[in-house]
Amino acid sequence: MAQLILLGTGAALSDVTREHTYLVAQGERESILVDCGGSPVQRLAHAGVPLGTLDHVILTHHHPDHIYGLPILLLDLWLAGRKKTLHIYGLAETIRAVRAIMRAFEWARWLEHGFFPVEFHTVAKKGINLVIVTNEFSISATMTKHLLPTIALRFVSRVSGKSVVYSSDTEVCESVVEIARDATMLFHEATTLDSAVTGHSSARQAGDQARRAGVKKLVLLHLPPNSDAKKFHAVASKAFESAVVVAKDFARFKF
Ligand SMILES: [Zn+2]
Ligand SMILES: [Zn+2]
Repeated sequence: MAQLILLGTGAALSDVTREHTYLVAQGERESILVDCGGSPVQRLAHAGVPLGTLDHVILTHHHPDHIYGLPILLLDLWLAGRKKTLHIYGLAETIRAVRAIMRAFEWARWLEHGFFPVEFHTVAKKGINLVIVTNEFSISATMTKHLLPTIALRFVSRVSGKSVVYSSDTEVCESVVEIARDATMLFHEATTLDSAVTGHSSARQAGDQARRAGVKKLVLLHLPPNSDAKKFHAVASKAFESAVVVAKDFARFKF
């Protein structure tokens, strides 16, 4: 059975209980990492995800809290003995930023010493479009409304037929409602409790989005430092009457 494991659940300013928001979809034989904070190899180990199952990394946008862990992920996979290709997906702007960061680390030199191949795949900016189909997952993307070009993602388990959606960073946005339509779970950012912030959503707005999309369960993540989980739950529940969960690092959701 597939599961979504939250490797981190904090906003850009995180706290002692939350790593920056990133997650992994784990199937029987494959895993797909979405965004890359902190020390991904350490977090994947903690979550019990074997590195050999990871062939795909999707980056939602190039704010530091979503991609700063990528250089150490690449280095650590190499040190762990990786030989096979790693596929990285993102918008053109995201891939440009990642390439620039890796140039700063002079990764061309790594290639001279047996570094494994990395293939970049550009995600198109057109409606809801398919990013990747693997044996166990089908993943599509759509643009959100954020401070930089950003994608939300819908994961469909090809085993169960169930789907889960990750909003990434976004204001209230029709395209996120569309991609989340009738999903089993919507993982939506809640960077504030109830106040409007440009480029982000509040817990109340996340609840509105979940209600409009008709999902079964709403999971709040990308939470601000020292957030009161009871308050976030209560505010989102005013807008969305079905199940609301305030995420914790390493929480798992089967789908
Ligand atoms: Zn963020
Ligand atoms: Zn952002």
